[in-house]
Amino acid sequence: MEFERILIRYGELSTKGKNRKQFVARLASNVKKVVRDMPNVKVHGERDRMQLFLNGADPDVVMERLRLVFGIQSFSPVVKTALDVEAIKEAATKLVSDLFVPGATFKVAARRSNHQFELDSNELNQEIGAHVLQTVPGLTVNVKKPTIKLNVEVRLDGVFLSCQTVQGAGGLPVGSSGRAMLMLSGGIDSPVAGYLAMKRGVEVEAVHFHSPPYTSEKARQKAVDLAEKIARYAGQVQMHVVPFTEIQETIKKQVPESYIMTVTRRLMMRITDELRRRRNGLAIVNGESLGQVASQTLESMIAINAVTATPIIRPVVSMDKNEIIEIAKKIDTFELSIQPFEDCCTIFTPAAPKTKPKLEKVEYYESFIDFDAMIETALAHVETFSVQVADEEKVTDEFADLL
Ligand code: ATP
Ligand code: MG
Repeated sequence: MEFERILIRYGELSTKGKNRKQFVARLASNVKKVVRDMPNVKVHGERDRMQLFLNGADPDVVMERLRLVFGIQSFSPVVKTALDVEAIKEAATKLVSDLFVPGATFKVAARRSNHQFELDSNELNQEIGAHVLQTVPGLTVNVKKPTIKLNVEVRLDGVFLSCQTVQGAGGLPVGSSGRAMLMLSGGIDSPVAGYLAMKRGVEVEAVHFHSPPYTSEKARQKAVDLAEKIARYAGQVQMHVVPFTEIQETIKKQVPESYIMTVTRRLMMRITDELRRRRNGLAIVNGESLGQVASQTLESMIAINAVTATPIIRPVVSMDKNEIIEIAKKIDTFELSIQPFEDCCTIFTPAAPKTKPKLEKVEYYESFIDFDAMIETALAHVETFSVQVADEEKVTDEFADLL
């Protein structure tokens, strides 16, 4: 069967009342991004659903990509016919016989929003069902658990038939909740945090701190590779790599060992916040998880967070490590994250950081150092670039059972 279009159903969009228009436009633009290498594909966002016209593109390839797009509840390859019973019958037979295997059972599920149509849904179920049974030999009916369920939807502009409904990624269209900076280390937690923020509609830009020569080119590349993985959910991710060596060396020299971690994190936060301001971001996302390591305590959060009033989103804050790992595996970042390249924190962090740092003490230690000039220098040397999805990366087998 030649499918000429895919019908896309919205997730939570429909509850958003008057923002709906913007949400639909955002989703349409995100869908266009994932098929941008297929210029013939056309996307048409309507109030209650979206239609994607294949114009010859491979429906299977398009559907694999749609599975990763947040804001989609489900989608179906469909065939459209005229408002004509004979045309519906013919299309129904074609669709079902394509899927027929020995032992197959089926049922028709008709719905009608067009009340002018000559048959109501019960009559449609019966007429179409009888016709398909006659024309597809060996097929039997099973109303409770059919192997083939033929959906027939009669609308004002035509009739839509489909046998397949694919679960979408859910969530909200990336970008519909605004932009935030994701503090992306090479670890397990921050890519997961980024993914979860994106799922709620946040467009993330990754910020990665590196400290050459203490950290290697491989550690930097690892962060870029991780950004590429999560870029699959957005089409692309903007990335900022911040040179952090001078600041870390200064901290190491001038701050008592037990406070190095806290001061380092505060500096990362300040720089990230300034990047956020410049990029018109609304929040900062990080991978902190409460109690996971000695440094991730509420006391520590108070001390680190004190440098800004910007909302800090911590999507994995209350998750167990195993829960985070499970998501990391699903989004295919886990294997990358466990590669053993030291990041800037592992190298400078003392064996025993303060688990309950005192804000007054942190501020006192910092008061002897003029970080402002160093922050300016670091910001002046930030490398900013766009991380695109590698073509062969767009569809991986792991995703087949993910979403
Ligand atoms: P992750 O697995 O994300 O590295 P973690 O459990 O190792 O997290 P920490 O190393 O304490 O936790 O870091 C806490 C958070 O600080 C990270 O999740 C990340 O958001 C941010 N962060 C740490 N190091 C960096 C870095 N080099 N560049 C950018 N952000 C960082
Ligand atoms: Mg880490």
